[in-house]
Amino acid sequence: MQNIDSYDFSGRKAIVRVDFNVPLDADFNITDDTRIRAAIPTLKKVLAGGGSLIIMSHLGKPKGPADKFSLRHIIGRIEELLGTKVQFAPDCMKADEQAAALKPGEVLLLENLRFYAEEEGKPRGLAEDASEEEKKAAKAAVKESQKKFTEHLASYADCYINDAFGTAHRAHASTALIAKYFPNDKMFGYVMEGEIKAIDKVLGNPQRPLTVILGGAKVSSKIGVIEHLLDLADNMIVCGGMVFTFMKAQGGSIGKSLVEDDQIQTALDTLAKAKEKGVRLYFSDTVVAADAFDNNARTQICPANAIPDGWMGMDAAPESIEEWKKVLLESRTILWNGPAGVFEMPNFAHGTNAIAGILAEATAKGAFTLVGGGDSVAAVTQMGYADKVSYVSTGGGAMLEFLEGKELPGIKAIRE
Ligand code: AMP
Repeated sequence: MQNIDSYDFSGRKAIVRVDFNVPLDADFNITDDTRIRAAIPTLKKVLAGGGSLIIMSHLGKPKGPADKFSLRHIIGRIEELLGTKVQFAPDCMKADEQAAALKPGEVLLLENLRFYAEEEGKPRGLAEDASEEEKKAAKAAVKESQKKFTEHLASYADCYINDAFGTAHRAHASTALIAKYFPNDKMFGYVMEGEIKAIDKVLGNPQRPLTVILGGAKVSSKIGVIEHLLDLADNMIVCGGMVFTFMKAQGGSIGKSLVEDDQIQTALDTLAKAKEKGVRLYFSDTVVAADAFDNNARTQICPANAIPDGWMGMDAAPESIEEWKKVLLESRTILWNGPAGVFEMPNFAHGTNAIAGILAEATAKGAFTLVGGGDSVAAVTQMGYADKVSYVSTGGGAMLEFLEGKELPGIKAIRE
């Protein structure tokens, strides 16, 4: 693998996988261009080094070509941010001439890769009542044509850069498979490098104490992360809807709070593992409960294991936050993933917002703080604290798989 800082781009064409999967409104205006801005340093590096660019990305989840998912909607913004003209290939498989004609400093954007089923390698248009054999045959067919698709993309360029952390957990044509066509000319872009370095500061050799805050709705979706991090963390704070499964498992009354009855045993196993590993576990022991799942519901503060019938835990109460604050301000490394309550409703966002504030304070005191996962990222951004924590990850699913200790296909493909 190569390093983007030392690679000689002069006279070379770089095909760069970026994550330009940005939200668009009904008139195709970009409502948040964070992902485009994030990739600009990598793109500028290639141009400044005398190379030309072939940019590729997906946008949304199209089932085939559809104007709604066309990357042409975002050309103007890329041109503004990159400060140069961007040519467009309306079919990513028919860009041979445009790619061949690129001169140093020129930029070509390929149309949405997911207009082709081969990008993801998943068959499309299968009848709902398709037999297992038909499904198997369709899968084999798309895998076969995926090779040609990948080879074709690779034929446009002399080197490959992966800078799409958001899709690094997918073994797609452009995120992983293409790398093997560039055995000596493949590298990470700056977004990927930044994410990998930040996560390594937490999972690799963290300064201790290491405290992990895990929130969100379900034990089932976070259990992989909990298990892996119990091997590493000194303290673990569990909050959000997950807490009530733990409370019920220990015989608590949780009213009509969110619960996963099929995760009760998992919760008990987690408690046992934490004890065995010497990890100090903290829950939102005191919560704000509501009499309805509504921002304007009546509320009361009560213990998380003694919620009255008909009421549900919606947020961590100030008492819980105070307890966590002491732990967090003594930590040298903090990882946060998942909200402490139903933060989409302003009346139940206080716990989540308070965590964002404490992380900013811990960062100012010298701790390394990493915020990862869609909702916690939204919370720090909303609170204006995005630049007051050490690192805000751009990848939701990719981050979770990383935290589960899995090797991401997009990272492995560059490294091997
Ligand atoms: P996740 O995607 O697993 O990180 O979960 C995020 C979701 O968890 C958000 O939509 C929150 O509204 C939800 N959540 C957090 N706390 C609670 C709670 N106490 N009850 C129900 N949902 C919750």
